[in-house]
Amino acid sequence: MFIACLDLEGVLIPEIWIGLAERTGIDALRATTRDVPDYDELMALRLSLLNQHGLTANDLQAVVAELRPLDGAVEFLDWLRSQCQVAILSDTFYELAEPLMAQLGHPLLMCHHLDIDQAGRVSGYRLRQNDPKRAVVKSFQALNFRTVAAGDSYNDTSMLAQADAGILFCPPENVVREFPSFPVCRDYAELQTAIEDVLGQETTATPAIRAAS
Ligand SMILES: [Mg+2]
Repeated sequence: MFIACLDLEGVLIPEIWIGLAERTGIDALRATTRDVPDYDELMALRLSLLNQHGLTANDLQAVVAELRPLDGAVEFLDWLRSQCQVAILSDTFYELAEPLMAQLGHPLLMCHHLDIDQAGRVSGYRLRQNDPKRAVVKSFQALNFRTVAAGDSYNDTSMLAQADAGILFCPPENVVREFPSFPVCRDYAELQTAIEDVLGQETTATPAIRAAS
């Protein structure tokens, strides 16, 4: 049996921090791991910008509530959920993503937590575990599920490599060049076909019990 593991931002929804930058007018919130490669440094920058501008967790959720899933994402996800179990593996935060998850019909989401103090300010964050997307795929495999994974960027590549089938979806060209072994899909129709091909292999290749490591 397959579980489809999907990245969230860039696959089903727009980039949340870019949406926050655009809607709050705080341009420095656009920074990504490409600008600030150290994730702790990047998050420290983001949190200090939020607090400097007096933005609370409620303010952020109100802004995120204005964002919409990418065109066709809801229909694609509905189709996928009719074919197999689906897990969304993301490096976003539950406290930010909730309004968008509601629009997606609340699929299973595995991501991280923001710390929010009594005044409603974002005071910190807690990553659920290291290399979290790959760890989830590996855990599903240890439970004897097969996995097909799709994501758009660097933080997805270890998940794609671990999965039984890994697919890049609308990736930037530098990711395509650096990871030429992954097939690339550039719209939902292509991704649907690619996943159908993987799911179609199920009947011919039912796995024996797989070792946990
Ligand atoms: Mg992404």
